[in-house]
Amino acid sequence: TKSKPSLTFQPVLDRIAAEIGEMPGRGRPAAYIPALAACDPDRFGMAVAEPDGTVYGVGDWRQPFSAQSITKVFTLALDLAREGDALWEHVGREPSGNPFNSLVQLEYENGIPRNPFINAGALVVTDRLQTQTGDAAEALIAFLRAESGNDQLSINEAVAASESAHGDRNAALGHFMASYGNIGNPVPVLLNQYFRQCSVEASCADLALATGFLARRGIRADGTRLLSGSQAKQVNAIMLTCGTYDAAGEFAYRVGLPGKSGVGGGIIAVVPGHCTLCVWSPGLDERGNSVSGVAALDRFTTLTGLSVF
Ligand code: GLU
Repeated sequence: TKSKPSLTFQPVLDRIAAEIGEMPGRGRPAAYIPALAACDPDRFGMAVAEPDGTVYGVGDWRQPFSAQSITKVFTLALDLAREGDALWEHVGREPSGNPFNSLVQLEYENGIPRNPFINAGALVVTDRLQTQTGDAAEALIAFLRAESGNDQLSINEAVAASESAHGDRNAALGHFMASYGNIGNPVPVLLNQYFRQCSVEASCADLALATGFLARRGIRADGTRLLSGSQAKQVNAIMLTCGTYDAAGEFAYRVGLPGKSGVGGGIIAVVPGHCTLCVWSPGLDERGNSVSGVAALDRFTTLTGLSVF
């Protein structure tokens, strides 16, 4: 039998949940679609997964929520695994300094988005994964199920329909990049894939486990390799610099970990070589990051001393 280190994350999670419960000000759930606007900002869950698959959690850590932009990490990894550096001819790796759904930079950068985590860049990645797999959203779901061990993990089709009904901005981004020749599939096909991707529902436990390959330097839960060690480092670096919308500097300052947030109120984070985290609380700040989520990760790195710095 494998001996486990005596350190357990449970006491620190319990302490963080108690502190978050006392904290005033939870922010407001995303308002652009009814399914997210209806979320209760008092929900809070947090999970930590160790590289061997041991998972600790507190609060609503087994409650599925809308993963939204967190999925951009997994589509990036799945596409990089398939086409390697060729991807970087179509999307950059610099923070944008603009809101996540901005169109302005695309014009003077010839339809090449700044990074894979703003919407334009994520659309390019999903387009390329669609070409590689024939069904990008299905490839994403299969990966998340395998890594989390949760066969129930799936897409909320009502949320996907709602994304589509409110998807004019993403449609504009898709068509605009297509005009530069940077989209390979018909834009409606791409948008359908992208909206389904955003609508994946998973719990903190599921997403902490699914992020494990980034703590294991590219190795999947079953021991096979998804990314090279160098590619895993690259994905972590892009999360650190671009993963939390227009607040990546503040997130690095407070938390000190590669992280990726979504407007559903979830945030994943990686301590390379040590563990992965996922926290969920639907109330967002004005930049779109979960207020309690960032606070909880801030407390985690402060209390444990685990960070990349
Ligand atoms: N699904 C939304 C969109 O693409 C937001 C995704 C997110 O940033 O979490 O506009």
